Amino acid sequence: MTDRRSDDVKQQPAADTAALGVPSQEALEAHLAPYAAHSAQSRGRRYPETPPSARTEFQRDRDRIVHSTAFRRLEYKTQVFVNHEGDLFRTRLTHSLEVAQIARSVARNLRVNEDLVEAISLAHDLGHTPFGHAGQDALNECMREHGGFEHNLQSLAVVDDLEEHYGAYNGLNLCFETREGILKHCSRENARRLGALGERFLQGRQPSIEAQIANVADEIAYNNHDVDDGLRSGLLTVEQLAEVELWQTHYEAARSDFPQIEGRRLIHETVRRIINTLIVDLIDTTKLNLVRHAPDSLEAVRAAPALVAHSEPVAAQAAALKRFLFKNLYRHYRVMRMANKARRVVVGLFDAFSDDPRLLPPSYQSTDAALQPRLIAHYIAGMTDRYALKEYQRLFVIDDN
Ligand code: MG
Repeated sequence: MTDRRSDDVKQQPAADTAALGVPSQEALEAHLAPYAAHSAQSRGRRYPETPPSARTEFQRDRDRIVHSTAFRRLEYKTQVFVNHEGDLFRTRLTHSLEVAQIARSVARNLRVNEDLVEAISLAHDLGHTPFGHAGQDALNECMREHGGFEHNLQSLAVVDDLEEHYGAYNGLNLCFETREGILKHCSRENARRLGALGERFLQGRQPSIEAQIANVADEIAYNNHDVDDGLRSGLLTVEQLAEVELWQTHYEAARSDFPQIEGRRLIHETVRRIINTLIVDLIDTTKLNLVRHAPDSLEAVRAAPALVAHSEPVAAQAAALKRFLFKNLYRHYRVMRMANKARRVVVGLFDAFSDDPRLLPPSYQSTDAALQPRLIAHYIAGMTDRYALKEYQRLFVIDDN
């Protein structure tokens, strides 16, 4: 009696699952427009794999990115403010999440692949060095004689080779379309080396709509969160921002709708209006472009001009905000001081490891002197801000510990 009852309990969920069925990749993406990237038509993975069940190829890519070690490192990498400067500033991780949120909103409205835009958005900064752009510029300078350093290419190197997660291959073995989206920029020289992935840079073709969305979402995210973080840090003031039309229009509208609010709440109410304006404009303008060019497939998207775009007036407003941030935040003396310190750390580490590669962890040492600089770059690029600072101390600071 007892046995039979436990059998009944076991069988019940199985019967329910069978009734629901396991949807095919096509069924999971049946709502997508013809110009979207469809999992079933992917140009595939570098190492062929059995298709996933109950999720699409691009969902699998997104999941692999979230489970990667490089993704967790983003929590301790600088966006503009170094991690220890304050707990509330954006890091590369929260930046990537904001990019994914914006990109998914746009993707859903355009009936393109949300899973692919999410995968690209979450992976787009995986190759960033510690200390943001200052770190990347310094490492690029160090690598000048050895092929340079570029964070887009490094993001690709992370997902293609550097992650050690799976038994069958190095890297995450992502789909072509995800890798294509991660590689936002690329020199012609590097493009020639990259085969199919580099072709579009040589032929002047576009990536998928999904990749184009992730690219613009990145700009929307950082322009807005850098305003927010700039104000929070006190490096920017609301008075200074009055010269930026995009800010001032929404700041005045927020004050008029909510005369009682002030401080952080008023700033946030303004920023959220700016983000909304940019997203809605991006969707509307892109829809018009889609109607005008009528691409009927991903291949037609690749052959068309860039379709994901702002209207001219909003593009001009966004560009003015970007110029303001460049002048007043990214070149602020306190940011420059941190950038200068970051440069010293990166150059110091690179030089010390180049002078004596035996100082490197064994997995980054090479018996081939020609390969050594790139391994040093991989090691440094993989560091979080605080790991780089610690490593610098371990190499250069003599204390009694
Ligand atoms: Mg970014």
